[in-house]
Amino acid sequence: MLSRILTEQLFSAKGWRVVDARREDGGVVVDVQPSRATAVCSGCGETKHRVHDIKPARLWRHLDGWNTRTLVRTELRRVKCRHCGVRVEQVPWARTRSRFTHSFEAEVLRRARDTSILGVCRQLGLHWTSVMRLIERWVEECAKKHFRRPLRCIGVDEISYGRGQQKYLTIVWDHDRSRIVWIGRGRDRETLGGFFTKLGPRRAGRLEAITMDMAQGYIAAVTEHAPQATIVFDRFHIERYLTWAIDEIRKQEFWRRRGAYRKAVRGKRFLLLRKHRRLHWRRRGDLALLLMLNQRLFRAYVAKEQFEHAWTYTTAKGMREFIVRWRRLLNWTRLKPLIKFWEMLMRHLDGVTAWAPLRLTNAALEGNNSRIRGLSQRARGYRNPNNLMLVLYHASWR
Ligand SMILES: [Zn+2]
Repeated sequence: MLSRILTEQLFSAKGWRVVDARREDGGVVVDVQPSRATAVCSGCGETKHRVHDIKPARLWRHLDGWNTRTLVRTELRRVKCRHCGVRVEQVPWARTRSRFTHSFEAEVLRRARDTSILGVCRQLGLHWTSVMRLIERWVEECAKKHFRRPLRCIGVDEISYGRGQQKYLTIVWDHDRSRIVWIGRGRDRETLGGFFTKLGPRRAGRLEAITMDMAQGYIAAVTEHAPQATIVFDRFHIERYLTWAIDEIRKQEFWRRRGAYRKAVRGKRFLLLRKHRRLHWRRRGDLALLLMLNQRLFRAYVAKEQFEHAWTYTTAKGMREFIVRWRRLLNWTRLKPLIKFWEMLMRHLDGVTAWAPLRLTNAALEGNNSRIRGLSQRARGYRNPNNLMLVLYHASWR
């Protein structure tokens, strides 16, 4: 029974049989022998070659059976091919030069998607480099296939890596398929320009919408290479700017007065910044108390909650009118950070209101990134951007 399962796993093509399975020092070693006189050339894949000579026995790591390390062993033959010369033969259970069987490689890749690379190494007793090399090979094989698919709506975002926050990668996301299309180093105009160059003018001309943060470099690259595409500024980035404005007001209030006042504002950050509908009812009392104490915080809070309404519009015109009207409320609040936020919206108004009819955000992309960040923090950070790029591609292309 065991030998039959093993045979099915190892030999998608016939021509080999399991001779023996023995327990040795390294684990269970399965001896395999060819059942035919002819062999396949590893250079061109052609069969029916005469055997030239036989090499010493080689081992391949296979999936652990009953939690015991399992190895496949055979003596490979060398063939005399009329195209390639003398070559080692091709086995059906592994790639040329790989020390793992196909099933084992698939298992490593499967685990690397949900665990950190270091975690996979620990689980399977592998070296970090061999896991990364497997991922690299897999990504290279998939890259062409994934890049060739037609693109309609894409998202652009940045991710930081390494110590300090100075190093960035730019990620291009396919909204229709929810996966990464391309990753480049840096976060400026040239970086995204590199993507458009690779895409070519014909395909860039077919893009319909691009979601992004209000970064000048990205905007410049899109207007240069894909002027027909609608720029949509990401809703969650805009909300983050609003949150920063509110937080600045909170800090100002904290330093403005002393004593009981300061105590009331201290540690209330999340009460203010969280959306009211997301706030637990038990905490709403605290919030009301805080807002009663401080007029400015109250006004800022009202303005923030009212801006929520902007996201309910389904036409760009309606949203535009709302944002213009929202300015009147800001006159009442007389709060500088909020007015600055509004001025920023007005500078980018077309892209902000483009959200209303299209309803596209970078949420999926951000979610993907934070998942990867969680993985990389749990084990070792990615100081080498190439490795981070590989892991990002690998996690996104299921
Ligand atoms: Zn050949």
